[in-house]
Amino acid sequence: MRTERDNPYAVETRALTKLYGGRAAVRHLDLQVREGQIYGFIGRNGAGKSTTLKMISGLARPTEGDIRLFGKPVSDPVIRRRLGVLIESAGLYANLTARQNVMMKAKCIGLADEASVDTVLSQTGLSDAGKKKVKHFSMGMKQRLGVALALLGNPDLLILDEPINGLDPEGIRELRQLVLDLNEEGKTILISSHILGELSKISTNYGIIKDGQLMEQITREELEEKCQDYFQIRVADVKRALPLIQEHFPALQPKVQDDQSIRIYGLAEGSRINQILIENQVPVYESGFHRMDLEEYFLNRMEGGTVNV
Ligand code: ATP
Repeated sequence: MRTERDNPYAVETRALTKLYGGRAAVRHLDLQVREGQIYGFIGRNGAGKSTTLKMISGLARPTEGDIRLFGKPVSDPVIRRRLGVLIESAGLYANLTARQNVMMKAKCIGLADEASVDTVLSQTGLSDAGKKKVKHFSMGMKQRLGVALALLGNPDLLILDEPINGLDPEGIRELRQLVLDLNEEGKTILISSHILGELSKISTNYGIIKDGQLMEQITREELEEKCQDYFQIRVADVKRALPLIQEHFPALQPKVQDDQSIRIYGLAEGSRINQILIENQVPVYESGFHRMDLEEYFLNRMEGGTVNV
């Protein structure tokens, strides 16, 4: 069986910090991505995702802290070759075709062989883009071309900053599939988004960043476990309903959501609560079981949770 020791970190940051004019965009960030993971890096706009990814990619200099890729310092040129990056716009030439764009970049990095170009075009589903110029591409095709450029040199680690932004549902589906295929081929992927739901179908691990600090690192399995089922009721009078629930179900922990609804975790029999409330003349407007989805979990963490450092 493979242990964690056999599966080293593709990315490891320690106390990573970036100040802009005395203000911290990223603070003491300890982030770990193991080889083979699809690591979804989630945070609201301005949370510090791009700044972190730029530092990991060697595009911005940390104010403090340490970054290691595959166990080596990020400054190591050999290690840098194992990294492919798509951050912000991919710098595409609008009047060139997909192939010409890839060839241009390939020449710049000394890889101008047809085979390398064909490989990345095929990996990203652009082999048939033919003579079409990039200015006539859909957003999804442009993003895939950006990934194709990042794939030149066959990197082991791909860093994709908000690649789903601005894509239509079809483009999102294609990009997700592309990420899954590349991961299947053995690439480690670090991908950011401000919308957890967009990454929830593919990520094996998550890092949640808020105000430049890492709130939580969590595996897909742990996240699913935390997204527990709950029973929610909307009643005429929460102040009367709550003590009744506490009295009849002392083991449960009801949580008041607003002045009309209460959420109860760990409940198997919701109809008993309805019955008790109605018997006690507390009208129930609505009730039912729900599952907290990933987006909801993320929003809860963004609003209240303590920083996990
Ligand atoms: P977004 O998706 O909106 O880019 P983000 O999570 O990627 O969000 P960053 O772009 O990393 O966030 O920005 C983090 C903070 O650092 C923001 O407050 C931003 O204004 C600030 N910031 C980023 N780059 C610079 C810069 N070059 N100079 C000054 N401040 C910056």
